[in-house]
Amino acid sequence: MGFISKLVNMVKGDQPAAAAPTGPNVITRDHHDISRRDISDNALKVLYRLKDAGYQGFLVGGGVRDILLGKQPKDFDIATDAHPEQVHKLFRNSILIGRRFRLVHVRFGREIIEVATFRASHHTSENSNQAKQAENGMLLRDNVYGTVDDDAMRRDFTINAMYYNINGFTIHDFAGGIEDIEKRSIRMIGEPQARYREDPVRMLRAIRFAAKLDFEIDPDTAEPIHTLGHLLEPIPAARMFEEILKLLLSGNGEQTYYLLRDYDLFKFLFPATDAAIENDETEDFQVEDFVVLALRNSDERIAQGKSVTPAYLLAALLWHPLQQRLAQIRNMPPIPAMHQAAQDVILQQVKRTSIPRRFSTPMKEIWDMQLRLPRRHGNRAAELVDNKRFRAAYDFILLREASGEDLENLGEWWTEYQFASGERREQMTKELGKAAPKKRAPKKPNESADG
Ligand code: ATP
Ligand code: MG
Repeated sequence: MGFISKLVNMVKGDQPAAAAPTGPNVITRDHHDISRRDISDNALKVLYRLKDAGYQGFLVGGGVRDILLGKQPKDFDIATDAHPEQVHKLFRNSILIGRRFRLVHVRFGREIIEVATFRASHHTSENSNQAKQAENGMLLRDNVYGTVDDDAMRRDFTINAMYYNINGFTIHDFAGGIEDIEKRSIRMIGEPQARYREDPVRMLRAIRFAAKLDFEIDPDTAEPIHTLGHLLEPIPAARMFEEILKLLLSGNGEQTYYLLRDYDLFKFLFPATDAAIENDETEDFQVEDFVVLALRNSDERIAQGKSVTPAYLLAALLWHPLQQRLAQIRNMPPIPAMHQAAQDVILQQVKRTSIPRRFSTPMKEIWDMQLRLPRRHGNRAAELVDNKRFRAAYDFILLREASGEDLENLGEWWTEYQFASGERREQMTKELGKAAPKKRAPKKPNESADG
């Protein structure tokens, strides 16, 4: 981190007194550590082709921020003065996307380089085709083009407004991002409350970066969030779904969850889950424990390079709301009741965040298996192990037990059964029948096993 200290000193100390207050600090190549080696070949290709065509092209956002922090950027974003159509013409492998915010995706196999044209503040346009703001301040369209200086001012946080120029290998820091990287601070550019009103998702982004980078949110940037959560309500459910994936399934889900709860935002993402946590009547906070364990589990899997599926995490987040809904359904056998409750809970949730069918289907299957896994008689156990959701459903059972639910060691039974020989399996199934029913706590009506 030494180079950043060096840098900040330079920024503070070597600043000519007459420097325009709004111009960027330009950090020359011998004063920073970003080299072309840190940048993906495809991003470099795009930068050079823009340059060769006579346009400006900068690497910006997470690409610059994460390299300065010694982290591997998740993706590379490029800003240019070329208009989207002009960028599209330069790259055969590109597509124009977006309406609210038009940009170009240049595709290289699995890697997508996002190229955005410099935007100016919407106040400079009378043309509602280009810019549109709702009465509440929300930006509905944001397609007024401008200079790189304009572009920097409409980015969200100072640490996201540093531009790396391939032409001279300099960093242009427009908002004091270098200093905030050194201070480990998330600071909004401009007046925070107005910037949240323009785009409420910035509140979620502040929390996401705080958790991901282990930074503090600057007090002035943090303070309005506590009371502005309701601004998230009109955000389209599809955009919210994208955001919750980034929030909860990027490897810092547990920390992000605590921040979302602290800032009173969680209830606008998962209202039923939030209510279940608030109204938890178990003695030992089982509901919240279950959510936290599920998130910790995903974080650990991501850290180990294993895959995580949104379906599993969403099934966990909505498990207790599902139980509460089930408790209200009367006079229905367990499986149809489960199906009804699942449908109701998902219908409620998709008002806030969409859940594509490719995720809601496996969610329902994981829930369904929670009723099936206790029923192990005859050939059932052998069939269940072969079920395509067995692994997820079994993990789910372990998670429920870890959070304090008493399932009479069901998880342990399945742990042994999975790896047991045929002979041992047969014996295990037989022993089930013989075991005298233990004294158990009265069961909820829908949980009764049929065996
Ligand atoms: P990461 O890719 O690691 O999630 P990032 O900062 O690159 O982080 P992106 O969503 O890729 O985030 O966006 C790229 C850049 O675009 C940001 O760094 C920021 O400068 C700008 N940006 C993105 N979303 C917004 C927003 N809602 N308001 C203002 N600026 C934004
Ligand atoms: Mg990015």
